[in-house]
Amino acid sequence: MSKLMLRNIGTLVSGMIEHPILQSDALLVENGIITHVGREGELEGAGADRIVDCGGATVTPGLIDSHCHVILGDFTSRQNQIGFLESEVHGGVTTIISAGEVHLKGRPKDPAGTKALAILAAKAFNNFRPGGGKVIGGAVILEKGLTKEDFGEMAREGVRTVGEIGLGSIKNPEDAAPMVKWAREVGMTVMMHSGGTSIPGSSVVTADMIIETNPDIVSHLNGGPTAVPMEEVRKLVYETKLTLEMVHCGNPRVAVEAAKMIVDANALDRVIIGNDAPSGTGVVPLGILRVMNLLASLTPIKPEQAVCMATGNTARVHKLNRGVIGEGREGDLVIMDAPMGSVGEDALSAIEAGDTPGVAMVIVDGEIVVSKSRNTPPPKRKPSIL
Ligand SMILES: [Zn+2]
Repeated sequence: MSKLMLRNIGTLVSGMIEHPILQSDALLVENGIITHVGREGELEGAGADRIVDCGGATVTPGLIDSHCHVILGDFTSRQNQIGFLESEVHGGVTTIISAGEVHLKGRPKDPAGTKALAILAAKAFNNFRPGGGKVIGGAVILEKGLTKEDFGEMAREGVRTVGEIGLGSIKNPEDAAPMVKWAREVGMTVMMHSGGTSIPGSSVVTADMIIETNPDIVSHLNGGPTAVPMEEVRKLVYETKLTLEMVHCGNPRVAVEAAKMIVDANALDRVIIGNDAPSGTGVVPLGILRVMNLLASLTPIKPEQAVCMATGNTARVHKLNRGVIGEGREGDLVIMDAPMGSVGEDALSAIEAGDTPGVAMVIVDGEIVVSKSRNTPPPKRKPSIL
């Protein structure tokens, strides 16, 4: 039994975009699960064995990176870089979702090897939490020759996601359609690349191809890194109900223009936030916070809504029991505040001003995994462990 109590919370962001701010200043996490959200007085006598006084700082659900090109371990052969996943946790990210292990040198493209890599990555990341963060690994890349039975086997062995369609040999909607159907039947979430070619061997994917294929997620609506033309963005926003992903390693102008359309279309619940790194653009430990900044400082999206796009929205489309502050949810949390020197008075006003907030503490399953971020600027207010 472990009981962690957070008290003296200044602002509590729920992760639920229809209701982003909770009028509570304390919560309790028991054995990794949030069991109570309320007022501090109600939680006295709950018998917490660890109490964190948040000092009036902001608490949000742990951030979710919806688009990461992991391989295995905390290493990417794309940039020959180690430790990038742990580094993301220091940016408040507690869940990292693979969009496909495409950067593995020598990646097999036959059905047996494709399936084996997805299962291996899913299982390996189930057993490995870099820096304490959770990784949903093993996003199968669609290659010619995969069968209905293969999808059944992958799902049974823990593969939950179809990585970006368009990165493998299955490129057009006719070839993708049966595989998307098989993946859906076994409960997988399906991502599809959009826009220009990203890596050698991948292809340009247009809005019409996406609409015809009907995935769950339009990966990097703002480009990864090259965006579809604005009229195609418009089509995807106004004429579909698809989940729309905004990424760091994309086109910032399209992100801003698309966000304005999304607000106009009242489609805030369809937006999720990813890094699309490691990629040629680099390795971006603070990418999720930076996309939140971009959306909240340069578009009509409010900072608390941007937080929900990086938490509850992503958890919903990926069927994860986290990303939301509520009883029965996994106890993944971030304590953050305005960074020292910011014109912002708290985390949300700093984000709205375009400043990267200071991450003061990161908690996964009720355990503190970061007590001082090595990557963000220091927060004005710091929590204390009592
Ligand atoms: Zn892509």
